[in-house]
Amino acid sequence: MLLEEKHFEGAGGLLMRDEVRLTIAAQAALLLLHRDTDYFPRLTSIIVYPSGYVAGELASAEGGIWSEGDEHLSGHTQRDLRAIVLSWDDVRAGAADPNDGRNLVLHEFAHQLDFEDGSTDGMPLLDTGAQAKSWADAFGDGLQALRRAADAGEVTLLDPYGAQDPAEFFAVATETFFERAAELAQRHPRLYEELRRFYRQDPATWGS
Ligand SMILES: [Zn+2]
Repeated sequence: MLLEEKHFEGAGGLLMRDEVRLTIAAQAALLLLHRDTDYFPRLTSIIVYPSGYVAGELASAEGGIWSEGDEHLSGHTQRDLRAIVLSWDDVRAGAADPNDGRNLVLHEFAHQLDFEDGSTDGMPLLDTGAQAKSWADAFGDGLQALRRAADAGEVTLLDPYGAQDPAEFFAVATETFFERAAELAQRHPRLYEELRRFYRQDPATWGS
């Protein structure tokens, strides 16, 4: 499983311990619960800082990087980095309320799923061409709708952070899928259906 296959490493003074490993692994495993797949095969390390860290040289890294936050990052991952970097404060905040639609671990690991197919376009590896087509339609429309709503200053179910690009939109939609499933199913049924098929889970039926 994830705990055994990946290297967990503390940084910036954080001493790695079971609480940190387990909190991260348990949330990340949720994404793979019913998918017949390796545990994030491209990923080798999970690096954890005590709190928001400064990007430094990351800012100049080329392409395929996703970072959350401005000056102080709460997390990031990168296509060729083979690592996910997380701020423990933000991991804990995300885990504290499983129904608020915000979860850093789900977000960063969704980015990892996005580039399992080698491209960083907000579309993970799907089973069939037909599924890819309906995914592209639903997510394309969903992203446009979020952008319009964010521009209009409306309160949105999906974090407006996802309006940046398709990759962030998929990561944000994943957070919402697991944490505000019933609302997503009701308000964005096409997105919900694509995510339900991909993750092979139906969290709207779990009750809250
Ligand atoms: Zn992101």
